[in-house]
Amino acid sequence: MKFSWRVILLWTLPILVIGFFFWQGAFSSAPADVGRNTANTRMTYGRFLDYLDAGRVTAVDLYDGGRTAIVEAVDPELDNRLQHWRVDLPGNAPELVSRLRAMDISLDSHPIRNDGALWGALGNLLFPLLLIGGLFFLFRRSGGAAGGPGQAMSFGKSRARFMMEAKTGIMFDDVAGVDEAKEELEEVVTFLKKPERFTAIGARIPKGVLLVGPPGTGKTLLAKAIAGEAGVPFFSISGSEFVEMFVGVGASRVRDLFKKAKENAPCIIFIDEIDAVGRQRGAGIGGGNDEREQTLNQLLTEMDGFEGNTGIIIIAATNRADVLDSALLRPGRFDRQISVDPPDVKGRLEILEVHARNKKLAPEISLDAIARRTPGFTGADLANLLNEAAILTARRRKEAITMGEVDDAVDRVIAGMEGTPLVDSKSKRLIAYHEIGHAIVGTLIKAHDPVQKVTLIPRGQAQGLTWFTPNEEQTLISRSQILARIAGALGGRAAEDIIFGDAEVTTGAGNDLQQVTGMARQMVTRFGMSDLGPLSLESSQGEVFLGRDWLQRSEYSEEIASRIDGQVRSIVEHAYNTSKQIIRDNRALIDRLVDLLIEKETINGDEFRQIVSEYTAVPEKEQFVPQI
Ligand code: ADP
Ligand code: MG
Ligand code: ZN
Repeated sequence: MKFSWRVILLWTLPILVIGFFFWQGAFSSAPADVGRNTANTRMTYGRFLDYLDAGRVTAVDLYDGGRTAIVEAVDPELDNRLQHWRVDLPGNAPELVSRLRAMDISLDSHPIRNDGALWGALGNLLFPLLLIGGLFFLFRRSGGAAGGPGQAMSFGKSRARFMMEAKTGIMFDDVAGVDEAKEELEEVVTFLKKPERFTAIGARIPKGVLLVGPPGTGKTLLAKAIAGEAGVPFFSISGSEFVEMFVGVGASRVRDLFKKAKENAPCIIFIDEIDAVGRQRGAGIGGGNDEREQTLNQLLTEMDGFEGNTGIIIIAATNRADVLDSALLRPGRFDRQISVDPPDVKGRLEILEVHARNKKLAPEISLDAIARRTPGFTGADLANLLNEAAILTARRRKEAITMGEVDDAVDRVIAGMEGTPLVDSKSKRLIAYHEIGHAIVGTLIKAHDPVQKVTLIPRGQAQGLTWFTPNEEQTLISRSQILARIAGALGGRAAEDIIFGDAEVTTGAGNDLQQVTGMARQMVTRFGMSDLGPLSLESSQGEVFLGRDWLQRSEYSEEIASRIDGQVRSIVEHAYNTSKQIIRDNRALIDRLVDLLIEKETINGDEFRQIVSEYTAVPEKEQFVPQI
């Protein structure tokens, strides 16, 4: 069916006309809104005069310059109750008015409301506007949504929602800390720039490269850098945009994307979040999603449909390659997988250097120190960190970013926005004991990471925080370290329990307990660190693939399940007792630290250890200092 204006007009005109009259009617019946409960029944003028003669009329309100009246009168037919009638008066009746006044009947006259007229006019306009607006909106939705519901009206060709950048302006120099990935991708640049070099000796140029890595590690940036280095256009689309409500839309978008790309070859096609379309087919509860499968099939067809030397290279990004359909990973499709990992300390330094290029740093700033302070930060986190520091610097009206701003920015990136401190109160004291509990247990257990600072300044969800300096880039964690972390995490609750008593413990430890349980459970089920022995009873968690998960649930028997629970409980119980003992043994020290914390809001690690050492021996901690 061809879309035409004739059809729209044919249908909408009658609606508009009818609507217009309804609207008109609703707005121009003037005395309908007298504020009394008008029965709106009509009464003839003659009858009104009869009622007047009989002395039943109690009030008359005149409208429309005296042409209409609402009459309040006693109705003999209804137990002499007061009723309202609408009466059309024969023009201006001055003698009626004087007669009413003579009879002492309450009389009121309502002028013709000019504003009412205006509203009426506006109202008259409003209705068609609303309708037309509504229609317009409907059509825009259907037409504009790139062949969404409008597809049914065949509203022309679908406009695919992909982006095209003729020049990304990003070079490999802008990407740091992911050297291995960069090396592999440099070859892709050569494929785009000098394909002859490969085709001459019969080599097949790969069509697809899959970048695998957690969010924020620079996958998009790398893809753009390839396009930038090769000087080719960059087409990008996100996998989630393929997946629409209407079957066939995603597939048509894939078709459009490849068509446009072929017209612009050589070029890069970047598909972000490819797992949104590329999940294993036929999996999941309910047999999967038709639309997704069609889109995926179309993608596979398109990839097979062009020769390796057309100059199109498809780069896809995902943070989980394990859920992808194996068809995507076959040779000739995404046959190269490159992992993009979070940077190590050296990588972080390089990334900081990239992002410090356009920022004003005070000479004292050591990017080195920042890199050390930020294990686990991705490229995006580091970029965000320097930006936050710059914003803080501007807010504090300083000339250049100093270490103070960087430290605050790190805290903010990790733990969220700073809140206002509580006023001194019982709950502030309780929070102080809780945090000192964490800090003292963490300090007195040798295997625990050292305290960096304790603070009562709220951040994000937390009312108080104890920061520990994690051991840099430690990939292997020992049993005693996990046990120390469990005890440290229980230190807050232990302090509440010992100081305030069993009945006064709070919900503040909820998050701690969640971590504790998680750690203890992993000790038992994954790392073989319990009496159950060296068994792996659960694979690494985080599988969101509902269908597959269900089918593989029973890795162990009911009996093992209850033994796991028993082991988890005994690990946690043991650690809790350790924490409580440390709190009991150091009561005087803890009271002093709490007073100091309430006074100063923040105690840093060195000062904390100094005070602790006045009371008891502080175990020496082994901290691995990475070489840059
Ligand atoms: P991903 O696509 O892996 O989620 P992005 O490429 O979108 O991550 O990264 C977001 C931003 O973080 C980039 O625009 C860049 O500013 C910064 N960034 C991330 N990784 C790096 C890196 N390795 N080097 C420099 N900057 C990075
Ligand atoms: Mg991205
Ligand atoms: Zn806590």
